[in-house]
Amino acid sequence: MALIVTNSREMTDFQPKKDFFVGIDSDGCVFDAMEIKHKECFIPNTVNAWRLQTVSRYAREVHEFVNLYSKWRGLNRWRNIIRTMDLLRDHPGVKRCGFEVMRLDGIRGFVESGTKLSDAGLFSYMRTHFEPDLQIGVQWSSDVNAAIERIVHGMMPFAPVKPSFEALAPHADLACVSATRNVDLAREWTFAGILDDVELLCGQEVGNKEQILHLTAEGKYPKNHVLMMGDAPGDMEAAHATGALFFPINPGYEADSWDRFYSEGYKKFLEGTYACEYEAKLIREFESLLPEVPPWQK
Ligand SMILES: [Mg+2]
Repeated sequence: MALIVTNSREMTDFQPKKDFFVGIDSDGCVFDAMEIKHKECFIPNTVNAWRLQTVSRYAREVHEFVNLYSKWRGLNRWRNIIRTMDLLRDHPGVKRCGFEVMRLDGIRGFVESGTKLSDAGLFSYMRTHFEPDLQIGVQWSSDVNAAIERIVHGMMPFAPVKPSFEALAPHADLACVSATRNVDLAREWTFAGILDDVELLCGQEVGNKEQILHLTAEGKYPKNHVLMMGDAPGDMEAAHATGALFFPINPGYEADSWDRFYSEGYKKFLEGTYACEYEAKLIREFESLLPEVPPWQK
């Protein structure tokens, strides 16, 4: 039975039961949730809120690049909407039709203000700042949340997830390490029938991924016995900052990555041959899928 972690004390107190530890991200790693969230929920509302109807085909292309297939995958929505609008303004298709993309000066000020980049943070920032794009941003973010609630549910994990968990179980303590809320994680992992496969479920309430790995696993297991699995550069940074190994779930090729994990990756991890060359090869491939320069600028 998984412990749904609600404070850092529970992570500090966690003691290893097995010889290995595997932290697993949820969205885009266990579930194909990044695709459905961005393509079905974000993009239609981005086009509508920021009045991009005329250039919707380019808005879709740029939004997908920034949020799914670039090094900015998985970053905060407010940072990424600025990046999306800036890249869109310079897109050759948008320039050709002379379309003017909004500048988002208000949102830019919010992101640079140091306020927490959440809906609540935005509301508090708006008590003293009045740029019109802030008001549009509130509506955009709330429409996106409503679309996610309406559309994203009942998802099953990638097929090799469950067998991988079962293969790891005799040797490793498993933990869900995610930036999603606990209540959503518990519901999604229960529906998918994988909640009881993990020892711990750690969502956004108890810290970021680096803090979670630091408190639950760092220093508690032998060297190279801690692994983090995820689909975004932030997952890799959290792993390496805490001395853990990283197994990438490649964006766009998630099921292939899980097949590779189930057929060879987890064995290499348990046998002690994962670190160095093998991990480096997987990371090179992962990074090549998350470029900085968009295809239309090449
Ligand atoms: Mg993820």
